[in-house]
Amino acid sequence: MAPFEESRLSVAERRESLKELLAQTRACVRCAELAATRRTVVFGAGNADADLMFVGEAPGASEDEQGLPFVGAAGKLLEKLLGEIGLQRADVFIANTLKCRPPGNRDPQPVEIDNCREYLYRQVELIQPRVICTLGNFSTKLLRGDPTGITRLHGQPEVLAIGRRTVRLYPIFHPAAALYTPRMLETLREDFSRLPELLALPAPEQTQWLEDVPEAAEDDEEPGAGGAAAEPAGAVDQLGLFEGL
Ligand code: URA
Repeated sequence: MAPFEESRLSVAERRESLKELLAQTRACVRCAELAATRRTVVFGAGNADADLMFVGEAPGASEDEQGLPFVGAAGKLLEKLLGEIGLQRADVFIANTLKCRPPGNRDPQPVEIDNCREYLYRQVELIQPRVICTLGNFSTKLLRGDPTGITRLHGQPEVLAIGRRTVRLYPIFHPAAALYTPRMLETLREDFSRLPELLALPAPEQTQWLEDVPEAAEDDEEPGAGGAAAEPAGAVDQLGLFEGL
């Protein structure tokens, strides 16, 4: 099959599909406990055409309240590290392994990760990043499909397919782990400093068209079906966050 650089879908078409995906996630009730306890679905935010995408673990209390990823202490550190390599939040797309907050910030359960996986893969296919930086163990294990932990893998890029998008995957420590551990922060900073050179490499060769296989994240649920689908009044309109296209 001939390699290709980008999908035949236009940026505008990909953005429209991303909006549809946002509606699907907002209506999602696949994880009964998360759907019943969340305040918002934290879809992700940033540049919907970004070369660099970050994937964290799951929303915490602040993220659940504001409907945005990485807005608490770990998010502030992430922004600081981005600034040190000349980037801002608006340059990248930030998502999570889970789109809903696990109650009490408990670890994501395997079934929840599995339920949410298709949404993340579809985001990757539609945003089409060149580099995905996984933050910590959960996203690294999910996207590599392997239980090897972040301590062994951090700072080592590899080319691999996420759904129908081939990317450079770059696992690094989760910023929350570096908040109170200076040595970990130094490691994170060192790993971060390699991101510009990874972004400067040619995009990995693509082997599938986005439209080759049916969409992954289809759901029988109509948007709005299910009691927990509604966003609270005043929830952030996350569509506005796709600015930059
Ligand atoms: N930690 C994460 O993994 N994700 C967030 O959105 C916030 C904190």
